[in-house]
Amino acid sequence: MTRGPIVVLHDHLDGGVRPATVLELAHRYGISTPADDVDELAEWMTITPDLPVAEAFGRFDLVGKVLQTPEALRRVAIEAVEDLAADGVIHAEIRFAPLLHTRGGLAASEVIAAVEAGLEAAEATTGLSAMLIVCAMRDQPLPVTDRAVDAAIAAAGGRVVGVDLAGLEMHHPATDHAPALERAQHAGLGVTIHAGEMDGVHQIQAALDACNPPRIGHGWRVIDDCTVDDGRIVALGSVATAMRDAGTLLEICPTSNESLGCPVVDHPVRMLADAGFRLCLNPDDRSITTTSARRELRRVTESLGVTTIEHAAWVERAAVGAFLPGPDRAELVGRVRDGWDVAVPRLVHLATRERWEAARASGAYLPAEFASDGFIHCSALHQVLTPANRFYRGRTDLVALVIDAHLVADALVWEPGTGTDEYFPHLYGALGSDAVLDVVDFPPGADGGFLLPPDLVRLVRR
Ligand SMILES: [Zn+2]
Repeated sequence: MTRGPIVVLHDHLDGGVRPATVLELAHRYGISTPADDVDELAEWMTITPDLPVAEAFGRFDLVGKVLQTPEALRRVAIEAVEDLAADGVIHAEIRFAPLLHTRGGLAASEVIAAVEAGLEAAEATTGLSAMLIVCAMRDQPLPVTDRAVDAAIAAAGGRVVGVDLAGLEMHHPATDHAPALERAQHAGLGVTIHAGEMDGVHQIQAALDACNPPRIGHGWRVIDDCTVDDGRIVALGSVATAMRDAGTLLEICPTSNESLGCPVVDHPVRMLADAGFRLCLNPDDRSITTTSARRELRRVTESLGVTTIEHAAWVERAAVGAFLPGPDRAELVGRVRDGWDVAVPRLVHLATRERWEAARASGAYLPAEFASDGFIHCSALHQVLTPANRFYRGRTDLVALVIDAHLVADALVWEPGTGTDEYFPHLYGALGSDAVLDVVDFPPGADGGFLLPPDLVRLVRR
């Protein structure tokens, strides 16, 4: 089931324009189109895996031509929000490159204002909160990126909440744009960078080197820096380790990646999640790939068996990663949790083997940390590796307790963890040994880092 509210962090304004609107605007502005019929134009606009990248970008060129007036920009912003809201999206960060819409004589500030006006109008009718991310194009020189970042900084405080680096990756490392991206960060804007989408792991390394952004667009090719065996990640390389341990949020776009040659059935999204990477699902280019936010959820469920519990967790992580002021972000996370309302039947607690053996003899487990924090730290499966790799790296004396959440329900409180908006299960009381369903060895890998033991995954997910 994929019924809950969705948060979209990676959605291109020009990649989501309705074909009928492209056609209408083209007629109005006297721009020729490759088809005169909406269905034919929609078919032409849809990119397929066999289409060369240059031709795929040609679709954006046509859309760009019709989006050179305030009226056109305002209209497509309204329609984007309407389409997202109809799909069950409650918050969206829509991105676009204002400088690509100045060919008709508009200033970048006027372009942004027109799109903001559209978001504002549509928010009033749909209730969807819509923010903007300003894209700089990575194939342009640094002074052009500086202009895009200047426009974003000037508009900050309104709907512009972040800056992105988009466009062709090959031969254009993010480090070339580092000074501009750092300036955006210092001005308080969020930064996300397309990396590891069309090109390899070295582009992810360059993105981390450029400004260590909290989010990366796509990033799925980090799988090339992982060792995979029997459908699971069994070891991480240096880039993968750095990104996972930094908690970088990957904005994964499965259908879009399919158009670049990675069928959804082969997508590493679930393997990455099980290896402790933070990620969320996004539509990227709704029109150009004929998809929607909810369709992305459905597709990974059908192709990879992703569960409702995982969807709820991934959408929550999107909310936690939103470029919003703290109180707004916390409120959004709360709305996502209420909307999905998913019961997590089995939880995990990491304990030392010695302490657990002693506790089992007495029938109740109460770790030493209980006294200071007032509760026993537990995790849903997708949360286990974050504390494990942060606090216990290299320890060889750990076991994972699989807890029946139903049997501890009276003492269990889901609440934001320290320093994060993400909710963790906290157990306010002793853990009776009857609530511990299984105990699984939890050894580190050769590098001291932890991955989920397959037994643990099987026992928690069954
Ligand atoms: Zn994108």
